[in-house]
Amino acid sequence: MDLFAAIREAMISHARRCLPEEACGLLAFDGAGALRRAYCLANADHSATGFTVDPDDHFRVLGDAETRGWTVGGVFHSHPVSAATPSRTDIARSLDPTWLHVIVGLVDTDVPDVRGWRITDGEATEEPLVLVPPIASPEEKGGA
Ligand SMILES: [Zn+2]
Repeated sequence: MDLFAAIREAMISHARRCLPEEACGLLAFDGAGALRRAYCLANADHSATGFTVDPDDHFRVLGDAETRGWTVGGVFHSHPVSAATPSRTDIARSLDPTWLHVIVGLVDTDVPDVRGWRITDGEATEEPLVLVPPIASPEEKGGA
């Protein structure tokens, strides 16, 4: 999965801003399956060890993505003090095997680790994220 540098930076900035709580957001994909935006949202749990996307935010994002011809097909969240691998809770709470789960690990806040996962039947498999240089921001690339 290609990951635009601007999207990676957006997730990292959000994760740092939300410290010491976990940050979260939703991921939107275009018709070709490319990741186009990370919506940075509020963690309704305000927890350092868990997250729930604010339901109003979730609803608003679905509408925004739809108007752009995108589909919400993933979620990202941060691990303030642990690695960018899914926790048992992350795996247990994952309902849709088609979703991409991105985790921002902030064990070293200066060198964040951003990794992608698919979670199927209680098992997490890494989906490698290939950083795409910021030649054009995803918002400016093509578009309707
Ligand atoms: Zn987690």
